[in-house]
Amino acid sequence: MTQALPEPGRMLKTLRLAREWSLSQTAAQTGVSKAMLGQIERGESSPTVATLWKIATGFNVPFSLFITAEASNAEILRSEETRRWQQQNSAMQISSLFPFDPQLGFDMLVVELAAGALSESSAHDSGVIEHVVVIAGELQLAIGEQWHTLKAGEGLRFQADVSHSYRNSSTQSVRFHSLIHYPGGKANR
Ligand code: MN
Repeated sequence: MTQALPEPGRMLKTLRLAREWSLSQTAAQTGVSKAMLGQIERGESSPTVATLWKIATGFNVPFSLFITAEASNAEILRSEETRRWQQQNSAMQISSLFPFDPQLGFDMLVVELAAGALSESSAHDSGVIEHVVVIAGELQLAIGEQWHTLKAGEGLRFQADVSHSYRNSSTQSVRFHSLIHYPGGKANR
């Protein structure tokens, strides 16, 4: 059974109203401006991957919530393309391989960073753990101040309640799996 994909703006508004946050409070929690949040909610602006991440992190909900339908009993993945947040000319591409299941509490993503790209992530809530495994290319990953270099087949698991950054200093793109565990499965649709 296929369901319509959520629209990020509608999901944002649903989450915001459920928490009873004003646009100003939401701006303070996510680091995204009030004006931008309003535009996204009204469907006037399509958020960048970076902005969607800020919103997801500010609400402590998984990224996939904004780009996949609700989980069903059996989820077949035919192509990650269908679950990618479409954005042209973005140095970072994210696909959510499976919808988020609150019972299980994890997101499984494929992230692709173009040559030279840097993606900075603010701290997630305490208890959030990321598992990064490089599929192809070379990734530099900073946890706090400490940089690590990971080649294809190598991985890193870390407590993501500190700021962290993903960087591709090479001349080829890097692809990695990111499995992010959200304890308590707080994401309510
Ligand atoms: Mn992160």
